[in-house]
Amino acid sequence: MALMTADEYRERLRDGREVWYKGRRIEDVTLDPDIRVCVDTMAVDYELPEHGELRHLGVVRDPETGEEQSRYYHIPRNGDDLLLHQELIVAGTRLGDGFIPFAKDIGADVLSAIEITARRLGSQDYIDRIGAYGRYLRQNDLAVVAAVTDVKGDRMLRPSDPGQAHEDYYVHVVERRPDGIVVRGAKTHISGAAYAHEMFVIPCRTMGEADKDYALAFAVPCNQPGVRQILRPFHSRISSLEFPNTRPVRVHTESLVIFDDVFVPWERVFLDGEWQASNTLVHSFALLHRRTGVAYRIPMSEQLVGVAQAIAEYNGVAKAPHVVEKLTDMVIYLETLKGLARASCLDYTLHDGVAVPSPMLTNLAKFHFADRYHDMVKIIEDLAGGVLVTATTYADWQRDELRPDIEKYLGGKAGIPTEARLRMLDLIRRLTRSELETIVLQGEGSLMAQRMTIFFEARRILQNAKALVEEIAQVPREA
Ligand SMILES: Cc1cc2nc3c(=O)[nH]c(=O)nc-3n(C[C@H](O)[C@H](O)[C@H](O)COP(=O)(O)OP(=O)(O)OC[C@H]3O[C@@H](n4cnc5c(N)ncnc54)[C@H](O)[C@@H]3O)c2cc1C
Repeated sequence: MALMTADEYRERLRDGREVWYKGRRIEDVTLDPDIRVCVDTMAVDYELPEHGELRHLGVVRDPETGEEQSRYYHIPRNGDDLLLHQELIVAGTRLGDGFIPFAKDIGADVLSAIEITARRLGSQDYIDRIGAYGRYLRQNDLAVVAAVTDVKGDRMLRPSDPGQAHEDYYVHVVERRPDGIVVRGAKTHISGAAYAHEMFVIPCRTMGEADKDYALAFAVPCNQPGVRQILRPFHSRISSLEFPNTRPVRVHTESLVIFDDVFVPWERVFLDGEWQASNTLVHSFALLHRRTGVAYRIPMSEQLVGVAQAIAEYNGVAKAPHVVEKLTDMVIYLETLKGLARASCLDYTLHDGVAVPSPMLTNLAKFHFADRYHDMVKIIEDLAGGVLVTATTYADWQRDELRPDIEKYLGGKAGIPTEARLRMLDLIRRLTRSELETIVLQGEGSLMAQRMTIFFEARRILQNAKALVEEIAQVPREA
């Protein structure tokens, strides 16, 4: 088997996994009315190749078998591979109305990061195991998510620090057996884990020698005994206060994933105690995943620009000088993001045969997007006006005795139907809701995580710039 259809993807989720939602054990995630919405969001990745014009992005030929396979599991070897990968993420996210499907992108980032780490370690065992596991993903076209963020406890303390309230705040090995390892701990905020087939588990920070039992990378099926997921409720429907909308709601859920003495066979273990290599794994994944994050923020930013322009026109203010300035700022925001994202792929380097994007440009792109996001939301809220939070509801619109007044008094520019203005305000409220603010800030690492990488990368730039001006100023060598 090579490519799966969306229905085959769904069918493979009926596997007895342990998922809890709103205090209930969910027997079948594809049938629960809330979680099904998320399943459908992930299924977009499986539908993408059916869109003829996108097939070349989604599908490549397996170099070994010649069979069609997902591009996601094709390890990038040069800048063009990275760019096509990026275009695939952008296309998938556009298909999902601004929501990344998440079936394979984050798993593909881990796959590459583990391959780099195994090669750098020079461990033929690990190279063979990740090679075989990558083949398994490719040939079965599985959805695989990444469980990286540990629950962490006291953030300032290392995993094994005796000051931590217990030793399970980070996932670690509790037993090594002839056939594999047993792991315990918990990961949090894991997107899509409730409706993926497989889960990669890797450390979220570099480990020292004292923490070597936490220097661990492995993969488990999501129904592995002992893996328990608890989901947070989320909005899976258009609010009844809003105009009805037949486009599918796109949403993901994040899981608290508990590993309750879970057995992992050796062939699925990709790091076990080699603490010196945790640095390579953590930083490779962070870089690759931040590039993925940047790519799916492009369609999201396009939507921000779109609603700003639309509501400015509907309100009749699109040509006012301060509005033109604000709309131009939004275009600068979007085009800077796109330019940095593209440049990060073209300015790639090869890490043990795997093409990785420029760390500086990738982190600048993610930082730019997250840091200026609230400025963009502020512009939209300003252009929309107070009606954004005070507009009458759809229930009122439906009343014959109210609708003529609403149509007459909540209109904007002549020629634009009042319904268009009210529908756009609904969309703006959905796009700028506070949950998205947190995703923007924390997804792929907090702002400080990007600052740290930018500063690390900047050391050479700062020294080169200093040397340049010292030469111009003819500073004596010993200064
Ligand atoms: C919607 C969403 C989806 C996500 N999806 C995934 C996913 O699929 N897989 C996954 O693995 N993760 C996922 N994440 C996790 C995301 O990567 C983390 O939220 C992010 O890395 C921050 O970690 P945290 O939430 O534990 O924040 P915290 O670590 O609690 O950080 C809070 C603050 O403390 C600061 N801080 C933390 N530690 C230190 C320290 N040692 N010294 C000084 N300051 C510190 C941070 O800079 C930040 O300002 C997701 C997050 C969100 C919000």
